[in-house]
Amino acid sequence: MKVAVYGKGGIGKSTTSCNISIALARRGRKVLQIGCDPKHDSTFTPTGFLIPTIIDTSQTKDYHYEDVWPEDVIYKGYGGVDRVEAGGPPAGAGCGGYVVGETVKPLKESNAFYEYDIISFDVSGDVACGGFAAPLNYADYRIIITDNGFDALFAANRIAASVREKSHTHPLRLAGLVGNRTSERDLIDKYVEACPMPVLEVLPLVEDIRVSRVKGKTLFEMAEYQPNLNYVRDFHLNIADQILSEPEGVVPREIPDRELFSLLSDF
Ligand code: ADP
Ligand code: MG
Repeated sequence: MKVAVYGKGGIGKSTTSCNISIALARRGRKVLQIGCDPKHDSTFTPTGFLIPTIIDTSQTKDYHYEDVWPEDVIYKGYGGVDRVEAGGPPAGAGCGGYVVGETVKPLKESNAFYEYDIISFDVSGDVACGGFAAPLNYADYRIIITDNGFDALFAANRIAASVREKSHTHPLRLAGLVGNRTSERDLIDKYVEACPMPVLEVLPLVEDIRVSRVKGKTLFEMAEYQPNLNYVRDFHLNIADQILSEPEGVVPREIPDRELFSLLSDF
């Protein structure tokens, strides 16, 4: 099963997707997480260092993909989750979608792509352009991370539109929204009432999650010696269980921009 996690920049995609991947591995699945961000934020915390991107590695082999072996690009991370970093295109040039395609190519050629129960793509970006949507060519499910604010829900609505668009050509479903870093959910509820989709979980702001990033540890690792974090770990296990149940999900019908402005505004 392939899962792609999207959301507004800085909303917590990498943090949440890393923890969901570990939760899936805890449920006995063989998991590969592919980071698609120059920030390396999907792979740095779980592996503890800046792993070379597939593009870096193929450059050292003069772009002979047949010479790129899975062990050259797949790194073991915390919790038994394998990690690959696509990175991003050079700033101001190239296309993130191309980089994702070049990342998947050697994984497919070596058959590594087919050896996992779950592959999770962690994708950067707020704009739903074609390149940004490239991981959806491989995904069965998409998950959107949002908070309870206008900007993240606006991005979520654009992302929902791109699911609808891609679903014409790919068997893609939206598994649902994950609320993050919020104790309120009134705007999230308003949004899903107008644009029906499941809400898989709503995670509060947890100071230790912010700290986990600075410490270079995932939440699951910190929970090993801080049992007070077990309740946050359980949020991620719950999301993992919902994914593993292969939910029906939805093909959403996004809300037109003007309607979204009035839906989420108080005036
Ligand atoms: P993205 O991948 O969407 O750009 P990150 O996962 O890198 O976002 O998260 C951005 C920052 O927010 C990180 O410093 C992370 O530790 C912090 N963060 C994410 N989720 C939470 C949360 N639930 N509570 C507190 N801090 C969080
Ligand atoms: Mg990220």
